[in-house]
Amino acid sequence: MVRDWVKENVEPQAFEHDKEEKFNLELLKSMGEMGLLGISAPEEYGGAGLDATACTIIHEELSASDPGFALAYLAHSMLFVNNLSFNGNEEQKARILPKVCSGEWIGAMAMSEPDAGTDVLGLSTTAKQTEDGSWCINGRKMWITNGCLDEDGTPADVVWVYARTGTDDRGRVEMSTFIVEAGMPGYSVGQKILDKTGMRASNTAELVFDNCIVPASNLVGRTGESLIHMMCNLEAERLTLAAMSLGISRRCLDEMNRYATDRTAFKSQIRDFGQIQRYIGDSWAKYRAMRAYIYDTAASMTLGKPGHRLDSDGVKLFAATAAKEIADSAIQVLGGYGYVAEYHVERLWRDSKLLEIGGGTVESHQKNITRDLFKNPEIINQ
Ligand SMILES: Cc1cc2nc3c(=O)[nH]c(=O)nc-3n(C[C@H](O)[C@H](O)[C@H](O)COP(=O)(O)OP(=O)(O)OC[C@H]3O[C@@H](n4cnc5c(N)ncnc54)[C@H](O)[C@@H]3O)c2cc1C
Repeated sequence: MVRDWVKENVEPQAFEHDKEEKFNLELLKSMGEMGLLGISAPEEYGGAGLDATACTIIHEELSASDPGFALAYLAHSMLFVNNLSFNGNEEQKARILPKVCSGEWIGAMAMSEPDAGTDVLGLSTTAKQTEDGSWCINGRKMWITNGCLDEDGTPADVVWVYARTGTDDRGRVEMSTFIVEAGMPGYSVGQKILDKTGMRASNTAELVFDNCIVPASNLVGRTGESLIHMMCNLEAERLTLAAMSLGISRRCLDEMNRYATDRTAFKSQIRDFGQIQRYIGDSWAKYRAMRAYIYDTAASMTLGKPGHRLDSDGVKLFAATAAKEIADSAIQVLGGYGYVAEYHVERLWRDSKLLEIGGGTVESHQKNITRDLFKNPEIINQ
C-alpha cells in the first residue's frame, strides 16, 4: 500500500522539492488520512498500533523515492509520536496524540545543540521550575528536523525538548524532557538552516527557547529520567534511519541495473564489462546483507522497550556507509548522466551522507558497539 502511494504521490514531487530546498508540508499532513503518521501510536488515540517492522517498511519505501521527505516523516512519527506514545502520561497522550496522528500538528525532537551533539550530556539548555510550578526553559537547539514548517519561519506545532534540570549526587547532569507547543511564550525559530548537502526536501532549523514558559503538566515523566527514554527511542530512530539507507540502496541498484542494460559502448551493453559488474554485484550483496540485518533487527525489536542498542547501532553503522557506497557506484555506472539531478542517483548520494551523521555519527556507533561488546562479550558466540 505504501509503495503504491509513494509512487503516485511522493515520486512526482521529489525532484522539485530537492531543487527548491522546500518541504512538502501538505503531503506529510495527508499521510494522517492513511493512518501512517501515528504508525506505532495506540489505536485508541488515533494511531495504527503497528510494530517496528511496519515502521521499517514505511521508511524504506519513502526513502526509495524521496529521502528528504522520509526524514521529515521520521522526525514526526518516530522522534515525536513514538516517543510520546511510550513515554508520555495519559493526559499528554489523550490531548496530543490525536492531533499528531491526524496531521493537525507536526512534531519535532530537539536534542542537539550548537555546542553539543554526540556529547548529549554536554547540553547547556536549562529548565528551572518557577514558584507556580511551571518550567522556564533557556537555550538553543540546533539541526532540528521539522523545527520550522515553512519559509516564513513557522515553528513546529509541538517539540520534544531535552533540557538540563540539575546535577545528581554523583555530579552527573540530570536531564529532563518537556513538551513545548507553538504559542508558548519564548519559543521561536532562530533560523532555517539553508544550503544543506542533501535532505533538502526536509526543513532543518535552529530553535530558540528564551525564558520559554511551559506548564508543569508538560514535563514528561519525572525530572532526571530522560536518559532512559531517550536511549530507548534512539534505538527505534536508528533502525528507521537504517531503513532509509535501505530505500536509497534499493533505488540506486534499480537505476544502475536498468542503465547498464540500456547503455551501450564499444558495441556492448555496459553490463558486459567486468568493472561495471563489480559495481552492480558488490551493490547487490551489500543491499541484501543490509536488508537481512535490518529486518532481522526490526523483528526482534519491541518498541518502547530498551535492549536493542547493539543492533540498532549495528544496522545504522553498516547501512549508512553501504548506501553511500551504492549511490556512489550508481553515479559511476551512469557516468555523466549520473552526475545530474534528472537521473536521481546524485540526489540519493547527497541524501545518503546525512545518514552517517544524523541520529548518531558512524564514530558514535563504533564507540557504542565496542563498549557493549566489552560489557557483554559472550553475545559474539551466541
Ligand atoms: C540534516 C540534519 C538533521 C538533523 N535532525 C536532528 C533532529 O531532528 N533533532 C536533533 O536533536 N538533532 C538533529 N540533527 C543533529 C545530529 O543528530 C548531529 O549532527 C549528530 O548527532 C552529530 O552531532 P554534531 O553535529 O554536534 O557533531 P559532533 O558531536 O561535534 O561530532 C563532530 C565529529 O567528532 C566525532 N566525535 C564526537 N565525539 C566522539 C567520540 N567520543 N569518539 C569519536 N569521535 C567522536 C563525531 O563522530 C564527528 O565525526 C540533525 C543533523 C542534520 C545535519
